[in-house]
Amino acid sequence: MRIIFIGAPGTGKGTQAQWITNQYNIPKISTGDILRNTVLDNTELSKKIKKFINYGKLVDDNIIIRLIKKRMEEKDCHQGFLLDGFPRTVVQANELKKNKIKIDYVIEFLLQDELILKRIQGRRIHTKSGRIYHITYNPPKIENYDDVTGEKLVTREDDTQEKIKKRIQEYKIFTVPLIQYYKYESILGNVKYYKIDANATALKIKNNIKNILKNSY
Ligand code: AMP
Repeated sequence: MRIIFIGAPGTGKGTQAQWITNQYNIPKISTGDILRNTVLDNTELSKKIKKFINYGKLVDDNIIIRLIKKRMEEKDCHQGFLLDGFPRTVVQANELKKNKIKIDYVIEFLLQDELILKRIQGRRIHTKSGRIYHITYNPPKIENYDDVTGEKLVTREDDTQEKIKKRIQEYKIFTVPLIQYYKYESILGNVKYYKIDANATALKIKNNIKNILKNSY
């Protein structure tokens, strides 16, 4: 099963991705997580990536495509995967097509900008694993510490109001055209395309997604 989550930052894609990977035994591939971990290496490439992320701008397609290809070659992707944050541009989507990587489901998360700005303030992450928490809606067992490793959680450097606004803007310019792209693909019968209301509770969203995916399992 190959799934793509599309949605502006802070719409809850990563949170939903967490249970899907357990339930369907497929990895969550988040390009944001891959990039944040690449940045920890402190190489020339990572300095370049860090600049893009810190401006709230999308990272160069060539860099992303190289990183994602490497990740998809890993063994755990053979049964499928969930892409969270990739593709984000039509160039990236075309790269999947060019490599004959067929996608089963595209799920779009819809949330108003004001709610994104509000929600993102409480987000905390465990960088190495990509586990996501929210101080109110999905708190860790021990405040500020990861449930699994016990390591400290952090607030993402690009989760400030100013950077979120920039990221939403980037989403509208580069990623919204992808919605048309996949709607067209769904008309052609190449993917199944669904929209979900990301303003619902996490549980309701989970049930919606379960209903969408139930035909496969
Ligand atoms: P995310 O964790 O998905 O919110 O991504 C964090 C940041 O990583 C984004 O604001 C971009 O700078 C960069 N990024 C993640 N995925 C992509 C992608 N597919 N294409 C370009 N830049 C990306």
